[in-house]
Amino acid sequence: MTIENEKILAKQRLEEFLKTKKLRKTGERFQILDCIYSQSSFFTLLELYDKMNKDYFHVSLSTIYYTIELLLQCNLVIRHTFDLQNVRYEKTPLGSNHYYRICMQCGTTKAFTDLKLKKSISLRDYHAFTPQYHSLYIYGICKKCGQKNAEVKK
Ligand SMILES: [Zn+2]
Repeated sequence: MTIENEKILAKQRLEEFLKTKKLRKTGERFQILDCIYSQSSFFTLLELYDKMNKDYFHVSLSTIYYTIELLLQCNLVIRHTFDLQNVRYEKTPLGSNHYYRICMQCGTTKAFTDLKLKKSISLRDYHAFTPQYHSLYIYGICKKCGQKNAEVKK
């Protein structure tokens, strides 16, 4: 799925959500959604605030905060707490699945794809439930930290 298709799908979902909850369809909310769906990496609220004010128009930090809460409610944004110091956000992968490798020592996070795993999950029967995407966290020690640890033991 292209970024443009993902944006259209996300916009439709937000429209439906706002209608259902009887909330106003403000331009700001859709611009923030557009800004989030234009990037493919993790971001913090402050980074989103900076990007909005640089590439779009001025919004307050409280607008960013409130909009993220809305987008979390309708599952258009995922909140990751890979480690306790950093809360990071990411657009929901509407057209793909995300797997993450997280180093428990330095906190480095890498997204990867696994076609075998993806196929195996897609072939499962979830009884009266239609999966849309899935996400998996694998915790461990990265190569760099592994080497550092081996040095210390010597
Ligand atoms: Zn590490």
